[in-house]
Order: sequence, then structure tokens, then C-alpha cells
Amino acid sequence: MTPPAAHKTPAHQHPALAAADPELAALVGVEERLQADTLRLIPSENYVSSAVLEASGTVLQNKYSEGYPGRRYYEGQQNIDQVERLAVARAKALFGTDHANVQPYSGSPANLAVYLAFAEPGDTVMGMALPMGGHLTHGWGVSATGKWFRGVQYAVRQDTGLVDFDAVRELALKERPKLIFCGGTALPRTIDFAAFAEIARESGAVLVADIAHIAGLIAGGAHPSPVPHADVISTTTHKTLRGPRGAMLLAREEHAKAIDKAVFPGLQGGPHNQTTAAIAVALHEAAQPSFRDYAHAVVANAQALADALLARGFDLVSGGTDNHLVLMDLTPKDVPGKVAAKALDRAGIVVNYNTVPYDARKPFDPSGVRIGTPSLTSRGLGTEHMATVADWIDRGVRAAGSGDEDALQKIRGEVAELMAAFPAPGLPRA
Ligand SMILES: *Cc1c(COP(=O)(O)O)cnc(C)c1O
Repeated sequence: MTPPAAHKTPAHQHPALAAADPELAALVGVEERLQADTLRLIPSENYVSSAVLEASGTVLQNKYSEGYPGRRYYEGQQNIDQVERLAVARAKALFGTDHANVQPYSGSPANLAVYLAFAEPGDTVMGMALPMGGHLTHGWGVSATGKWFRGVQYAVRQDTGLVDFDAVRELALKERPKLIFCGGTALPRTIDFAAFAEIARESGAVLVADIAHIAGLIAGGAHPSPVPHADVISTTTHKTLRGPRGAMLLAREEHAKAIDKAVFPGLQGGPHNQTTAAIAVALHEAAQPSFRDYAHAVVANAQALADALLARGFDLVSGGTDNHLVLMDLTPKDVPGKVAAKALDRAGIVVNYNTVPYDARKPFDPSGVRIGTPSLTSRGLGTEHMATVADWIDRGVRAAGSGDEDALQKIRGEVAELMAAFPAPGLPRA
């Protein structure tokens, strides 16, 4: 689709970029419009603030700083050390941990660093199976973590959609994994960190809480914290936490050295200082009272959306949500997840197709669609809008089934109209 001229970034928004590379600037411009005009429901995405955007576009980018504050392998760290110390201090204060490492490039390398810190190649590790809602990096076969380690995987119960702790305990005691991962990418319910910690203790495993999806909810007090229970906490910074693309590892003091050594020099070279700076800004924002309101509003919106979908006959995994995420099983609607996701995209509603537990279809063509409320809540939409959102999804899925492109275009117009009334953080005003 050729974007209309009006959808190009005005030259004053990114003047240097527009002058030096109009082709790239135009792509940024149309992406800005897309993010402004659409209803973004991918639960791992968000809108960062202008402050976070600015921090991640600074000259801190120009600096090499392998090592840690006060012990670098390059000179000229007077300011960089302070930036990283600020990010670390804010992470420790926000989550209440002994130790924080803010250098992992993203969530996947952060998790790989945990393996490097606590396991040897070939060791047994345990995590939730990917099709159940776990993450690739929790020992799934196609991931390095499943190729270099022996991944054993737990599931959710078919009848409840909840973790089957009896089965987790049995598997852990039988397999004696070095690491147990809890957390995942498609889990609509509260994670019982205490139950996982008890099993880890019984089986002699290190418990890793991967809170990538829910870090912002935890920071805002809208989900229980893993800090009293987990040995190590891994998180991305760019999902509900609303920071730049990056990650952090949080740990008890006893694991601090092992974690730091694993990240550098074990796995990475120079940290991305512009990202560290933007993480510091995001952590500062997340420490404000308004972020608590945000986190609770994300959950309230997800629950209102779940209720509105249930009222329209949708089948939700686990029957609803406790957090920011809703996993719809479209089997009863007789529309494959991918067909629905692509149709909704044409209607200006951006989601992702996803497996549901015990999916009868294939991972690349599954039965589910995964949605979440972090982005729309960042724009200020509230529970009063969730019936409208559910209605669009309902009409969109029905239009997907019947191939009604006109219906999708009509929804697209309605979406753009509502979105125009709720400008997104970080995006230029039209
Ligand atoms: C998103 C996510 C990751 C990986 O993060 P990337 O930054 O995409 O590498 C790891 N674990 C969980 C549970 C996630 O949701």
C-alpha cells in the first residue's frame, strides 16, 4: 500500500533524518501513523514516553563500556558509570532486590545468561512448554536453550487452563532440573511464585521467575512480586514496564557475582548505554504514583474486555484473566487464529495468533488469538471503552469467517476515529 503524502513524517519531527535519508524517514513516518491510527492489542507491546524515546536516541550510543561501573575495560566512563549506577539503583529500589544487572540486550540473552550462570551444557532444565504459554528460552527444542540443555516441560491443566502444580512437583522430583523457569508469554492468570519456590526447594533447583510480560504490573502493585520467592528474576524492560527494548536480571546478593559474570564477559560485549539510560528513565516513571494507577488500569481494562468478550460468546483460556492478557480460543467460532488475526489487522486491530493449550491445530496455524491491554491503557482508554473493543473484535472475527472486507474497512474507520481522540505517548501529533 502506498501511503498518502499526509502520512509521511512531517520534516520537523525528525529533521536530520528527513534530510539525510528521506526514504528511511518516510518509513518511520508511516510507522508512526500506523501506531497512532490502530488499536494495538499485542500484550507484549506498549508505547514508551517521549522521555524514554529521547534517552534512547542520545550520544550515550557512541560509547564503549565493557565491564561494570568502576571496573571498565575502556576509559572515559565518568558519565556512563553514573548512568548505569542510576539505572541499577532504580531497579533495585523499584523491585526491592539486592542486585540488578541492566546490561542484557533483551529478554532472550538475559535468559541465556541465567543458563550460563547456573548450568552446564547437557544439564536438565525445566520450563513451561511453549504451546502452553511458556517462552522459547525456557528449554524449548528449537531454541539454543533446548538444544544445548535438556529441556523438560510442564503444562497447564486442560480443564482449568491453570498450572498443574502436582504434575510440576512430580516432574521436578523425577528430573531434578538445575533450573526451573516460571512465567511465560501467554499466561492470563496470576503466577503462584510461592508454589514454584517450594517445588524448586524440594528438588534442589534454582528458581527463575521470568516476569517479562508482567514486570510493569509487579512494579505497579497489580501482580504479586516474585522477589521473596525466586532466586533470579529475568525481565524485559519493553513490555508492561514501558521502557526501551532491553532486559534486566534481578537477584539475591548470593547470586550477584554469577549473574554479572555470565552477562559480561560470559555472553555479551559492550552494554548499550543509550538503552541503559532509557531503562533508568522508565524505572523513574514506573516509580511514580501514576504508574500504579496505570498498572491497575491495565488489569481492569483486561478484565472488562474479557467480560465483554465472554458476553459475546468467546471462549477464553482459563475463563478470563487476572492480568493484562486474554487468550481467545476461536475453535467454537470456526475461524483459525491466523485468519482472524490477519482480518483484524486489516480492520486496524493489531493482535497475534497464538497456540492455545492442547491446541488441535499447528503452531504456525493455531486456534488462538492473544490480546492485551498495555498499549490501549497507555493511550488513556478505560473500562468504558472495552465493550466497543470487544464489539470490534466480534465483528472482525465474524467478517474474517465470512470474508466480508467491507465490514473490516468499516471497523477500521471506527478504530481510527476513536484512536484519534486518544493520542499515544511518544508519537507526534498529526
Ligand atoms: C518477551 C519474552 C522474552 C524475550 O524477550 P526478547 O526481548 O523478545 O528476547 C523472554 N521471556 C518471556 C516470558 C517473554 O515474554
